[in-house]
Amino acid sequence: MKIKELEIPAIVHKLQTLSERMKEHSTKLPHVKSDLSKFLSGYNGEKSLEFHLTFLQEDLYHILHDVRLYDGERFFQIDVLVISPFFAVIAEVKNLSGHITFDGKFNQLIQSKNGQERAFPDPLLQVQRQITQFRAWLKKSSLPQVPLHGIIVMSNPYSVLTSSEYEADNLIVKPPSLVSSIDTIKKQYDQPFITQKELKKLTKQILIKHEPDQSPILDRYGLERTDIISGVFCPECNSFPMKRVYKYWTCPKCSCRSTSAHLSALKDYYLLFGKTITSKQLREFLMIDSYQLATRLLQSTPHLTKSGHYKSTIYTISEQINL
Ligand SMILES: [Zn+2]
Repeated sequence: MKIKELEIPAIVHKLQTLSERMKEHSTKLPHVKSDLSKFLSGYNGEKSLEFHLTFLQEDLYHILHDVRLYDGERFFQIDVLVISPFFAVIAEVKNLSGHITFDGKFNQLIQSKNGQERAFPDPLLQVQRQITQFRAWLKKSSLPQVPLHGIIVMSNPYSVLTSSEYEADNLIVKPPSLVSSIDTIKKQYDQPFITQKELKKLTKQILIKHEPDQSPILDRYGLERTDIISGVFCPECNSFPMKRVYKYWTCPKCSCRSTSAHLSALKDYYLLFGKTITSKQLREFLMIDSYQLATRLLQSTPHLTKSGHYKSTIYTISEQINL
């Protein structure tokens, strides 16, 4: 039973917006673009698992995607968590292409692709750390313990896998074998450790305690507001800034007119700067001079809540704007 659906992670939305609104000459743009493709690839890897997970016995397993919990000292993120009354599996998903070697001697994963080699941290160490942290979280939350198992899923169907002095070969799977690996683990257990009721309570607690990473994206790259391009983008040709002429946003390049192009800019604002905005900040970002127009736009926009009075009025943007 799917308890927590796989969604496009917030960081992907933020990085997409950031890469579109960073000034062309920024030296940090390549870094942002490379991170964006890394996070997108991770998401696509997990997406490719979804179909295979539907073959798990519906009433026995609870499936949760992208869980982020706090163990009392630090946050930890689990790609896929499969829990039953008998045991739980923490799956670490890697979507790497090319020839992949698991090197047990130096605890690294080596990707050979297009004549180049690149090293990554050993996913076994990652999954072992997640097991330790999840166990600590269960204890801290006074929840019943179930045996925990780690699996490394290499989601790229075209990657070629080999290993060298690697003790955990049996924990590495490709998506089509994930379900049979979980079935094999199941054979170790005759008796459940928790009841169905306790399982429901456990997954409910995970959903309650799940905390998405909301750290400001600009801080991640040491960027300032001045590094970001202001203005309303044309929905037709992506030129900016559109000019407000009478009741319309008008594109200086293709002459397209829109009454709602500022909504997309406001969504960008939300992703880049956070959920609160003042009239002054709106005017600066949409590049308009009129205080009255700013007020009218703020008051007519859905997903905004007003608080405060006069000069201290602040509008809070709801996350619904991102849907
Ligand atoms: Zn245009």
